Amino acid sequence: MTARIIDGNALAARVRGEIADRAAALSARGVQPCLAVLLVGVDPASAVYVRNKVAACEKAGIRSLRFDYPQDVAQADVMAKLAELNADPSVHGILVQLPLPPQFDEAAVLEAISVAKDVDGFHAENVGRLSQNQEAFLPCTPHGVMKMLESVDVKLAGAEAVVIGRSNIVGKPMAMLLTNAGATVTVCHSRTRDLAFHTRRADILVAAVGKPRFVTGDMVKPGAVVIDVGINRLQNGPDEGKLCGDVDFASASEVAGAITPVPGGVGPMTITMLLENTVISADRAARAVGK
Ligand code: NDP
Repeated sequence: MTARIIDGNALAARVRGEIADRAAALSARGVQPCLAVLLVGVDPASAVYVRNKVAACEKAGIRSLRFDYPQDVAQADVMAKLAELNADPSVHGILVQLPLPPQFDEAAVLEAISVAKDVDGFHAENVGRLSQNQEAFLPCTPHGVMKMLESVDVKLAGAEAVVIGRSNIVGKPMAMLLTNAGATVTVCHSRTRDLAFHTRRADILVAAVGKPRFVTGDMVKPGAVVIDVGINRLQNGPDEGKLCGDVDFASASEVAGAITPVPGGVGPMTITMLLENTVISADRAARAVGK
């Protein structure tokens, strides 16, 4: 079997076009959507992510504000900026790029962001709302995965779904979204005893491990939908320097029914959902003042 490719670039381009139309309509009503991004320190990957987010905003007609802080900045300085942005009615989304340097209490910083502007969906209140299947800002990566599954009409109700990874930003919210959609979900992690036993049962397999080519074809159920969240840069071998996912695409695509590539899969959808959340927040703000 050769799997159907779920093209994240094409889907992201389509959804970003719709978002740009909504942003233009809001701007015409006098409310240009605006995202504030805070970057602390010099982590090169974080700097690339922030640059991509700011560029994507610009392309979609969303205003962006960027605040850069040195690695040794005091948490209080960042908290003061968050308070200012929370109070600014022209700002609709606030994002603090993770990870933060070790002197930070990450949970405290995330909870200092107004729930109404938490477009990353990491505030404990938004996480709680998601777990209760109430309306909430959904974390961008798992939300993007749900859109990808929807785009290829994957039937979720009753499906066996396996998520590898239990992080707060990908694995856990992914499992909650799939549960809310009616799938039977197993969450695997580094303490899981027989990983392949679980993955081979999965109609939908989501890999969010952070290990290059970790999931191989023999771990995949024939015909399964395989979603590769991983973004890894290969350290050695003939492909050194290249990006690859957590799934060994060559062997898995021979067994799966559908699969996302890396790059060009989940990555572009993550930023797309950030833009969507910002526009949703701006729309709410516009309605609140009768615009
Ligand atoms: P974390 O490092 O926070 O989590 C990794 C998870 O994988 C943990 O739950 C860990 O288990 C589990 N794990 C590690 N080793 C094994 C193993 N041998 N067997 C089973 N499970 C294992 O990573 P993130 O969730 O933040 O990210 C995961 C990947 O997704 C990374 O490659 C990251 O770069 C990528 N990513 C991509 C995004 C995108 O836009 N496409 C956005 C965000 C992340 P345990 O909890 O027990 O340690």
